[in-house]
Amino acid sequence: MQRKNVDEIFKKLSEQSPTPKIELEYHNNFTLFVAVVLSAQSTDKGVNKATPVLFEIADDPYKMLLLGESKLKEHIKSIGLYNSKAKNIINSCKIMVDEYNNQLPDNFEDLLKLPGVGRKSANVLLNSLFNESTIAVDTHVFRVSNRLGLCKTKTPDATEFALNEKISDKWKKYAHHWLVLHGRYICKARKPLCSECVIYHLCEFKDKN
Ligand code: SF4
Repeated sequence: MQRKNVDEIFKKLSEQSPTPKIELEYHNNFTLFVAVVLSAQSTDKGVNKATPVLFEIADDPYKMLLLGESKLKEHIKSIGLYNSKAKNIINSCKIMVDEYNNQLPDNFEDLLKLPGVGRKSANVLLNSLFNESTIAVDTHVFRVSNRLGLCKTKTPDATEFALNEKISDKWKKYAHHWLVLHGRYICKARKPLCSECVIYHLCEFKDKN
């Protein structure tokens, strides 16, 4: 896809929502970290339902360790994979208390050392908390980018690298937010709502309807 069309796509998406925000609810850096870990293969809505009481009790790593793994599980048992997520959160809290002065680290390499944090989660945290123009590739970003023709990739990591090459710096801060929103509400996985799509004329998907 030509650069001018890429720019046009993000111009159109930005007009709908100029400064989109993450839909996970949180109080501080640590609680967004917890919400992001919990959101893997789960909906933001489901996570937001489970976390308000938890975040009142445990809004930093030390308090989460005091709460303990079994009580943490009680708070998050409505969320898929809650056993392994609870273990990852507790193990990450130990690292944050021991090595980062009870804080969430603020750089990609150190975030990746936390159990439960992969490239996507680290990029979400850097983008939302530390104002970095990272591109986090979730299932929506992967699907929408490939349908549109922004890239032709087989993995989320390859998509991230391709999008970083393709998208102008001026769009990068919000690029993945716009693609997530577009994938969630318009370019849905099973049945994309092409007749409502503001970037229909720019989309290279051969099965668009
Ligand atoms: S035209 Fe259809 S397939 Fe293409 S981006 Fe829009 S909703 Fe998705």
